[in-house]
Amino acid sequence: VHFPIQGGLFDRALGRPAGAVRAVDGIDLNLTRGEIVALVGESGSGKTTVGRVIAKLAQPTGGKLLFEGRDITSERGSSALRPYRHRVQMIFQDAYQALNPRHTIFDIVGEPLRSLRLVDNATQLAERVGEALASAGLSPPGDFFSRFPNELSGGQRQRVVIAGALAVKPELIIADEPVSMLDVSIRAQILQVLVDLRSKHNMALLFITHDLPLAWSIADRIAVLYLGKLVEIGSADEITFNPRHPYTAALRNATPQIGGNANPAELRALQGEVPSAARVPKGCRFHPRCPLAFDRCRQDEPPSVEVGPQHMSACWLAQ
Ligand code: SF4
Repeated sequence: VHFPIQGGLFDRALGRPAGAVRAVDGIDLNLTRGEIVALVGESGSGKTTVGRVIAKLAQPTGGKLLFEGRDITSERGSSALRPYRHRVQMIFQDAYQALNPRHTIFDIVGEPLRSLRLVDNATQLAERVGEALASAGLSPPGDFFSRFPNELSGGQRQRVVIAGALAVKPELIIADEPVSMLDVSIRAQILQVLVDLRSKHNMALLFITHDLPLAWSIADRIAVLYLGKLVEIGSADEITFNPRHPYTAALRNATPQIGGNANPAELRALQGEVPSAARVPKGCRFHPRCPLAFDRCRQDEPPSVEVGPQHMSACWLAQ
């Protein structure tokens, strides 16, 4: 499975004409089967847009989306996309909104199987729904068939969302902040379900989060996004313990669990907010918040350069 995305992208959810805003710009990312990649960034970084583009829920204005070498960037329409929707599924953070309160759990989990025509009869449908619920940790599955979302806890609802994605046996799951709305006590269980998907089904997982320690705990590789641009990518350990971009270092140092002896200058870097995507700063887009910025940073955008094995950073100092 290979997904390079390059060029400017436009997210329809923003409701602006194409070209008005580049929510994501110049991202080049690939995922391999059985791999967990975390996409990390603050709110407004464009990480959800990347997930929506890969899931074909947003159309890029440029670049390419390749799936097993096939260019699917311009494929549209439900019948053309049916095979892709079968193989790539997206899980959203808000299980309350994702589940129709008037449908039973059986109907919710079975719906993608029916709409993608992946089952021939009611027996197959019941088997596949049961399998998906069990894989998501809802056992015995039959106990949940006729229940409604409002009869379940928050953790159980998120498991139903995961089961809905799993039912079609996808090769890639894009999980957008899947545990951010859950109690801390439930998070580890849901994360374990997602990690198990890799070992049991050899799926790829794109895990979208604002939380660097969480990303480190689950991912093989971490990609750090800032204002629509990939500023650093590498192994989870390298990104967390040997960051080569000041933004990643600031994210790391802002986290007491892994920040250790935080550098006060780097801590200051996270003050303020990500600027609007409509007004991307000239030069390095992180320079207004970067404590290490110098003249060149305000003029020229740094390219992404290799700073270690499979470790790239887009910072003039990384060179
Ligand atoms: Fe900071 Fe300059 Fe590096 Fe950008 S290029 S992260 S402003 S030091």
